[in-house]
Amino acid sequence: MAVGDSALSSPMGPPVCEKDSKALRFIEEMTKNADSVQETVLAEILSRNAKTEYLRRFKLNGATDRAAFKSKIPMIKYEDLQPEIQRIANGDRSPILSAHPISEFLTSSGTSAGERKLMPTIKEELSRRQLLYSLLMPVMNLYVPGLDKGKGLYFLFIKSETKTPGGLVARPVLTSYYKSDHFKTRPYDPYNVYTSPNEAILCPDSFQSMYTQMLCGLLERKQVLRVGAVFASGLLRAIRFLQLNWAQLAHDIRSGTLNPKVTDPSLKNCMTRILKPDTVLADFVVSECSKDNWEGIITRIWPNTKYLDVIVTGAMAQYIPTLDYYSGGLPQACTMYASSECYFGLNLNPMCKPAEVSYTIMPNMAYFEFLPHEPNSAVLTQNSPPQLVDLADVEIGKEYELVITTYAGLYRYRVGDVLRVTGFHNSAPQFQFVRRKNVLLSIDSDKTDEAELQNAVSNASRLLSEFGASVAEYTSYADTTTIPGHYVVYFELLVKEDSADSLGDSVLSRCCLAMEESLNSVYRQGRVSDNSIGPLEIRLVKSGTFEELMDYAISRGASINQYKVPRCVSFTPIMELLDSRVVSAHFSPSLPHWTPERRR
Ligand code: AMP
Repeated sequence: MAVGDSALSSPMGPPVCEKDSKALRFIEEMTKNADSVQETVLAEILSRNAKTEYLRRFKLNGATDRAAFKSKIPMIKYEDLQPEIQRIANGDRSPILSAHPISEFLTSSGTSAGERKLMPTIKEELSRRQLLYSLLMPVMNLYVPGLDKGKGLYFLFIKSETKTPGGLVARPVLTSYYKSDHFKTRPYDPYNVYTSPNEAILCPDSFQSMYTQMLCGLLERKQVLRVGAVFASGLLRAIRFLQLNWAQLAHDIRSGTLNPKVTDPSLKNCMTRILKPDTVLADFVVSECSKDNWEGIITRIWPNTKYLDVIVTGAMAQYIPTLDYYSGGLPQACTMYASSECYFGLNLNPMCKPAEVSYTIMPNMAYFEFLPHEPNSAVLTQNSPPQLVDLADVEIGKEYELVITTYAGLYRYRVGDVLRVTGFHNSAPQFQFVRRKNVLLSIDSDKTDEAELQNAVSNASRLLSEFGASVAEYTSYADTTTIPGHYVVYFELLVKEDSADSLGDSVLSRCCLAMEESLNSVYRQGRVSDNSIGPLEIRLVKSGTFEELMDYAISRGASINQYKVPRCVSFTPIMELLDSRVVSAHFSPSLPHWTPERRR
């Protein structure tokens, strides 16, 4: 296919180099043949894994076609696979799910029974992920010229890892990727040069890592053409870090010496090579950062930034206005859609507005099916098995839950994401990310559901019972006006009259901590290790407030019989009503417990 034929050509014109044109041709080939690529992927997965315990159990008998697969293999959730995962974690090396050895577990930010889900993966998946990464810049280069003339300032971090009882490493997918040779020894690519050295990205101490990445970003401020992090919350955390640490950073730049808090030997070594005294730059950092007004700080410090590279879809949409404020409205590019289970696809129009982002699922990554999402339909029963729709057959405007079958051995696995079809690129559908199911509160990668919040409130209520009080009603919201954001839980209490005075700040702040202790390990890691979530806050509201909330809902058309207290709120008039009834606010006084080790 001639390059000019590319359905991906943009107002910017054709691909910038042969490497890009190869990547774009690959996208075209995959998306033009979405259905047949999917058929081949399924056959490959089923034939190589035919002798696994799992596929034998369902008597697939070596069949590799869609019809046999669909009639014999059930759709499952993580919990259904828990026994197999546990056996692998305990050291069973027999081919349970995959014929290829499980190389490690990827720890998802989705949790099960309070702990991160463990996703089995195999070595070759790294190359599949790498392949998706390799498509991102060729697409971006169609829309933004000259990205080879400078660098990307990306705040990238690794997180702690553990070993399962059977000795397999368990860590987040990005930690696995950054520590792989695919990343560490990536060949030089002028379109993908980062200001952060590998030593900074790979430093396990989050302060030292962030500090040196920021320092390198400041040192090369004029070369920086794009600023990014994986998620919007991460980039805002970097801005907050700059607010707290600019004086020390400027001192290092002025003196050419490194903050003694950076103690990691290889990082120190590397920074010594990079850091040279620069009084002009130090003066500039001081003059910009000491201003009270930080509006547009990103473009003031990094004046050549063309766009922010951060995910602002899904739960991250709450950060769009703050990012607009700090960046003076720079475009926010959401480039890809991925998970620990599998990398799914990319945005072929990355400079579009956040509200218009659609991801094109790449049919070579896994076998994808779609469960029509009908929120009001009855719970699925055994008698009426759900009809899953194939990738090429989804319909524009409809919503589906994503179900995947991967090379690593997940078969018809429900990811939990709800997607809406917005269109097609060739024969590959494009999806808007609608939401993740069952998530009530989220600040960073934490995902708290209604049951977890209810359990946390019950534990707080138990503490209150000693004081003759209990929680009569509650609701919550994710407050992202602070950086980092934090959970706010509104309590209306039932208090015995004679004990009303004994309820001081001390007991309510203990309730905050008790709630935090009850929340899942991703939340607690965000509080303790990543510093990505601030202390939980309880706001006590006047008695009668939740009745007013109900009156308000009914005045807007809710039915009295069916009214339920919303357990999470975000609608401004409701927040205003709640906030106008607050009698006191209380914060968690210390960090909850968290260690990298799993509780079970
Ligand atoms: P994890 O398994 O911890 O890597 O989390 C993966 C989940 O993050 C996905 O299943 C989505 O719910 C969410 N996610 C990943 N990429 C995006 C994106 N581009 N937009 C919205 N949500 C995303």
